[in-house]
Amino acid sequence: MAQEAIDARVTALPAELQPLERCIGQTLRQDVYAERDNPPFDRVCMDGIAVASTAMARGVRRYPVEATQAAGSPALILSSAESVIEVMTGAMLPRGADCVIPLEEYDLREGVVSLKGEVNGEAYRNVQRRGSDSQPGVPMLRAGMRLGAPEIAVVASAGLAEVQVSRQPRFMVISTGDELVEPGQPIAEHQVRRSNAYAVVAALRGHGFTHVLNDHLLDDARMLSDRLGRHLSQHDVLILSGGVSKGKFDLVPKVLKELRVEEVFYQVAQRPGMPMWFGVGPSGQAVFGLPGNPVSTLVCLIRYVLPAMTTAMGARRAAPEPVAMASPVQSRRSAAYFLPVALRYDDLGRPLAEARFPRGSGDFLALTEADGFVELPPRAEAFPEGYLASFYRW
Ligand code: AMP
Ligand code: MG
Repeated sequence: MAQEAIDARVTALPAELQPLERCIGQTLRQDVYAERDNPPFDRVCMDGIAVASTAMARGVRRYPVEATQAAGSPALILSSAESVIEVMTGAMLPRGADCVIPLEEYDLREGVVSLKGEVNGEAYRNVQRRGSDSQPGVPMLRAGMRLGAPEIAVVASAGLAEVQVSRQPRFMVISTGDELVEPGQPIAEHQVRRSNAYAVVAALRGHGFTHVLNDHLLDDARMLSDRLGRHLSQHDVLILSGGVSKGKFDLVPKVLKELRVEEVFYQVAQRPGMPMWFGVGPSGQAVFGLPGNPVSTLVCLIRYVLPAMTTAMGARRAAPEPVAMASPVQSRRSAAYFLPVALRYDDLGRPLAEARFPRGSGDFLALTEADGFVELPPRAEAFPEGYLASFYRW
């Protein structure tokens, strides 16, 4: 429900042309068509000799070598079916020849080839036919794919030096709270390390986002208003942690409203992460107010923000993986339950989710032992062992 509300309001990022070497991990925003036949010619796929299959069928066993055809040269012409041309892997098949005999199957002495034993001389043996992999005009890649190494190879093979990809969202990660102190700085008993900002930035960078800045704001209406106003004007997505609960100093929802950020929802029936806030800025900026408790922050980021950004970039979103619970788990009657889990594998290699209960939503040490978390829907009865839950990896 929260996810649908976010999806309905997140604006699509524009596409932009990027040089191919900057495209790894990016989301493709155009279809990519084959430039020409692939292979573009009848291609020799063994080092050996090119012969005419008709001569092989007639039982000819000795052939003079006319010439050598290397890869990267235009096709030679086999002038007589009684002779052969030496060929290299990747070369064009010489015209007049239609079969390649690999070099293990003949002896070559003084320019004459003698076949050894039984040799298969059928037409197009060891030849990849022109157009057998793909033909021009056929889409090889579709918009919405993520460009990994194989996809980059396909784009290059299509002759494109640049390709349309989604523009990277510009993220501003903002921690809020008077109690928070930067790592590396001295800390007093009443203070807390500003770890959420680091976790959120790390998760975003780890998922391939490149434009990620961060800031820290005090629980002060004036400061929040000034700086959030500036961040809204410079970024596509604001991810705040803290300051969204109902405490006296939880000023974030009120300040955002004053900045004309429309509240789409406030509070979600989930544990942890109940106080989560989401809104849309005056020019379509997505603003996520995540609860400050470290477990809540990370869970909400992975569960809601990352999928929403996948959609905003025009990428296909994979459904969360179903994973069987390794043992029964108590349910929450009226809230979705996000439970950190470690994966182990049964005898058949199937994943099982073992609960790693945090001792509270501040216990992020428990998360280091988990591979991610499962989402357990609200219901009265407990979840049995083997229950298939949606799994989200960190
Ligand atoms: P809040 O949502 O602001 O009420 O914060 C809830 C709890 O999370 C408090 O105990 C905060 O100290 C803690 N917290 C808030 N922000 C952070 C942060 N960036 N890093 C670590 N803990 C935080
Ligand atoms: Mg706070």
